[in-house]
Amino acid sequence: MEPTARSYDRWPSTWDKPLLNLHALIPSSRVNGPGARLVVFFQGCLRNCPGCFNPETHAFRESLVCTVDEVFLKRLGEGVEGITVSGGEPFMQPAGLKALLKAAKERSLTTVVYTGFTYGEILEDARLNGCLGHIDVLVDGPFEREKKETTLLARGSTNQAFHFLSPVYSIEDMYLPGRVEVSIGRDGVVTGTGFSSLSFALDSLISEGGGG
Ligand code: SF4
Repeated sequence: MEPTARSYDRWPSTWDKPLLNLHALIPSSRVNGPGARLVVFFQGCLRNCPGCFNPETHAFRESLVCTVDEVFLKRLGEGVEGITVSGGEPFMQPAGLKALLKAAKERSLTTVVYTGFTYGEILEDARLNGCLGHIDVLVDGPFEREKKETTLLARGSTNQAFHFLSPVYSIEDMYLPGRVEVSIGRDGVVTGTGFSSLSFALDSLISEGGGG
C-alpha cells in the first residue's frame, strides 16, 4: 500500500499526543548528522522501502513509550550539539514529534529530521507542517535501494533531498566521518547505526582486517 501524509489517521489516537512511541535512542552518535547527536528512532512505518536499514522499526506496536522530558533527562549524551530524528516514520506521530523538537530547541539543541514523506506533502498538511518551524534540516523522501548514496553525505539514497530550514547548517555539515558506527555492549551484543546495514559494516571490517 502506498502511504500518504494522512496514513497516521489510522493509528490509535493516543499516539497523537505528546507521548512518544520510540524504537530506540542513542545518547551520542557521530554518524547521524553534524557533530555528536542524540538519535531518536520512532516506531512505526508503512512504507516498506526495499533494503530499509531499520526494518524492525516498521511495526505499529507499542515499543519504548516515554515522555519528551524522559528523552532528555535520561538519554541525552554529554556534549551533543543536537538531536537527529529518524525511524520508522516520525511524522506518523506528529504531536509527539512537534513536542520533541520544541523541547530540543528550548535546550538550544539543533534538529535534523529524516522522513519518508516529501517536503511538499508535509507543507500541505496542517497536522504535519507545525513541526517545520522547529527543524534545522529536513531530509525527505523514501529510501531507494537502486539510488544508494555512496559518498559520506548523511542520507541513504540520492533521491533524498536536504532542506535547510534555518541557517544553522549547510551541505558541508552533512558529510559524515563514516557511514556506520559499531558498538559492542558489556553483554557482547553488537549493534550498529548510520547509513549502512550492520552486516555490511561487519563484512567491511572483516575484509579490511584480513580476518586476522
Ligand atoms: S521510510 Fe524509512 S523507515 Fe520507512 S521503510 Fe523507508 S527507509 Fe525504512
